[in-house]
Amino acid sequence: MAAKPFASSADLGVKEQTLEVLADGVYALTAEGDPNLGAIEGEDFLVCFEALATPVAARRWLAKLREHTDKPVRYLVLSHYHAVRVLGASAFDAEVIVSSEQTRHLIEERGQQDWESEYGRMPRLFEEPESIPGLTWPTMTFRDKLTIELGGDRGELVLEFLGRGHTEGDIVAWLPKQEIVFAGDLVESQAALYTGDAFHFDWAAGTLDRIKALRASQLVGGRGRIARGRDEVDAAIEQTRDFLLTMQRTVGDVHRSGGTLKQAFEATHAALAPEYGSWPIFEHCLPFDVQRLWDELSGIERPVIWTAERDRQVWDELQG
Ligand SMILES: [Zn+2]
Repeated sequence: MAAKPFASSADLGVKEQTLEVLADGVYALTAEGDPNLGAIEGEDFLVCFEALATPVAARRWLAKLREHTDKPVRYLVLSHYHAVRVLGASAFDAEVIVSSEQTRHLIEERGQQDWESEYGRMPRLFEEPESIPGLTWPTMTFRDKLTIELGGDRGELVLEFLGRGHTEGDIVAWLPKQEIVFAGDLVESQAALYTGDAFHFDWAAGTLDRIKALRASQLVGGRGRIARGRDEVDAAIEQTRDFLLTMQRTVGDVHRSGGTLKQAFEATHAALAPEYGSWPIFEHCLPFDVQRLWDELSGIERPVIWTAERDRQVWDELQG
């Protein structure tokens, strides 16, 4: 059997981008499993959620958004530090770039390595990479919660850290009045999970419980389709949890019995593939996911920094 191409390096097919209006002044862009985006109108300003991998890619989303509103972007909210979510920030001309404190710290600590790693893994998302002016620096940070009043009768937008999960610093954007949540990569709706920088145990328990407790009637996850209605929202959250719990069981069994990382990978692949194998980025993510959970079970508290070299090494060991 031929070796699998590294990560998503051979995924060159263009994805269709669809802008959906979720409520008056609330927008989401989905892209067949590529990263999703959001935007929320205030009375005289816009809040944008996520920024894609390059300014050129972000400008295409902004052009679609501009068919609906010409309000200036006051806040650009970053759900977490991953390069494919933040490096397009300069296209927004935002007054303020908001993230959690933890995310700002992660950008300082590992933003450069993450940029290089993600570029190697998913080159297609880095449209015109030379348009990136440098790392994206949040200009306003918070620890647990930040509320933005939208004005008029639009209600408020609550940005909230609900516990460690996909990374150490993910936040969600919650519209209590409209009952809409932008969950970033903390919830995927019919797309595979990337857990290479995750805290699998916190995520599968308290963090997902707190997202579920919002009782949203629409949920925009990090990738994949929009969940509409309470049943679909809960299904997306429980699918995310099932993926994590299956990993915990399979990797945990092999780790406890003194097996190898490769055996853990194979057991996890076999357990997840029937349900999730056909979903976007499954094969790409799984080696990195299993390595991080293995590390976590070995007592490594914070995720080891992914570099282009470590990416290749883990890939060759597990998928090679
Ligand atoms: Zn991410």
